[in-house]
Amino acid sequence: MYRRRTLTIQQQITLLAGTLCLALVAAAAGGAAYMGKRQTRELIETHVTDMATVMAHTLDRDMYERFREVRILAESRTVRGMEPDALRALLTRRQSSMIDFAWVGVADPAGNVVASTQGQLEGKSVANRLWFKHGLESPYIGDVRESKLLGELLGRDQRQAFRFVEVAAPVVAGGRTVGVLGAHLSWTWAAEVRRAMLENDTAGGIRDLWILSSDGTMLLGPHLGSKPFDDARIAAMLRSRQGVFESDSENGMMLTGYAIASGYRDYPGRNWLIIAQQPARDAYAAVRRLEWGALVLSILIAIAGVTLTWFIARRIASPLRALTAAARDLGRDHSVTMLPRLAGAREIVDLSAALRSLMRRLGVEQERADLVQRQAQQEEKRYAQEISELRRAAGIDPLSGLLNRRAFLYAAAMMMADANARHLTVIMADIDFFKQVNDNHGHSAGDATIRKVGEILTACVRETDLVARFGGEEFVILLAGTPPGAVLALTERMRRSVQETPITHGAATIRITISLGVAIADPEDRDIQNVIEGADRALYRAKQRGRNRAVLSA
Ligand code: GH3
Ligand code: MG
Ligand code: MG
Repeated sequence: MYRRRTLTIQQQITLLAGTLCLALVAAAAGGAAYMGKRQTRELIETHVTDMATVMAHTLDRDMYERFREVRILAESRTVRGMEPDALRALLTRRQSSMIDFAWVGVADPAGNVVASTQGQLEGKSVANRLWFKHGLESPYIGDVRESKLLGELLGRDQRQAFRFVEVAAPVVAGGRTVGVLGAHLSWTWAAEVRRAMLENDTAGGIRDLWILSSDGTMLLGPHLGSKPFDDARIAAMLRSRQGVFESDSENGMMLTGYAIASGYRDYPGRNWLIIAQQPARDAYAAVRRLEWGALVLSILIAIAGVTLTWFIARRIASPLRALTAAARDLGRDHSVTMLPRLAGAREIVDLSAALRSLMRRLGVEQERADLVQRQAQQEEKRYAQEISELRRAAGIDPLSGLLNRRAFLYAAAMMMADANARHLTVIMADIDFFKQVNDNHGHSAGDATIRKVGEILTACVRETDLVARFGGEEFVILLAGTPPGAVLALTERMRRSVQETPITHGAATIRITISLGVAIADPEDRDIQNVIEGADRALYRAKQRGRNRAVLSA
């Protein structure tokens, strides 16, 4: 029972080291994944922001170039001459190299178009146009505008409004403003820039690039004219100029980088918001891969660590198990007296050596104890012999503890010689068919029977009477002071007592009877031998008459 509740050393070490290994690997892998994730996230965010920033710079630079082209053209001698035919020829020629300009024209200070590319709008007034008004004062570049009319005029797709940026510069001759050079920069130019950037971004996964005006209106991208972000977001972007945020859109979570196109050199910029978008799921796919990789790697390392620890723990525990098994054998099998010599860690080798030394010491002590025990047994036997000899010497029958023949005859002779002694009677008792007791129950059962009969006979007489065993299963009793009338009652009591007392020896219960011969001493007859012989003769008759009876000698 307790085995199940207590963990083995192997289990404990495995558990401990396994937990440690798991914790360490988890911490290391988790830390690496966290740092990797942070760096990757930064990289991705930087990439999205960079895309927006590069696009903003490209637009600014291109706008600056267009702005410069128009100013340089306004300063050319032919333009300053304001001669319509020469102007038209120059503008039409230049337009072929300034492909992004849809229309280029020159108006006089009153606002009438003097000459233009392909003669479009010539003779018409542009006095109310913003570019003309601004262009009279100084070089001007407007925001993106749209015009259906201009689109039609220029033969564009009628369903779509034509989008353009107006650029203008004053034409100055002789210190006077003699006209305004205006140009319509086609917005398809910006779309080209966007397309080129998206094409170049093969690895980055940028989904879309938009251009918003500074009030958040879509200038380039889906749903032109819409406002994809709320005013607060627009204000925040304008404030921080450049950055990245995550936002919810119809295509799911989007990682949005932004930058402000705020001009280049003397081009003041229109504060367009350039938006670069990438689906967050795509953007962070690498991050998730990194996390999964770290998780799988840490699980693999942990499994390897736990397995290794399990084997190490088994190596540590196996000599201990062997020692335990050996000790168990030692307890069960008496022929095993030594523990095996164990290999393994130094502590195990030392432990095994120490235990072996202890066992040797115990072996020596055991031998010493055995020797002492053997000696004690020998001594005991010798004492028993000595006691038995002493008893015999003292006249005691060693088996029954009664007087022996020699002591009885001596004591009886003394009593017979005593002139005061009266009523002396000798009883001889012999167990009937005693040989059968030996044959049926064994010699020691016979001995026990002899002892018991001795006890019964002794119990029947007084202390002053003599009870002796003459050898074999024959007893002799000398009664002193029992009147002749009481003798037969006494012998009858003896006979009955033996008959009625079952003798148990081991598992056996033995029932026997005795025969008795009685001789009462003549007051004149003082020879004990004569009385004994009389009793013996009476006993013989008792046997003859069928045993289990007492017979008084005649
Ligand atoms: P019965 O007296 O009735 O005629 O028959 P019994 O069988 O008693 O006859 P017997 O006197 O021939 O046998 C006595 C036997 O007692 C013989 C002997 O082997 C056995 N014997 C003598 N001394 C001892 C003793 O000290 N111990 C035991 N166990 N047996 C003894
Ligand atoms: Mg007998
Ligand atoms: Mg006999």
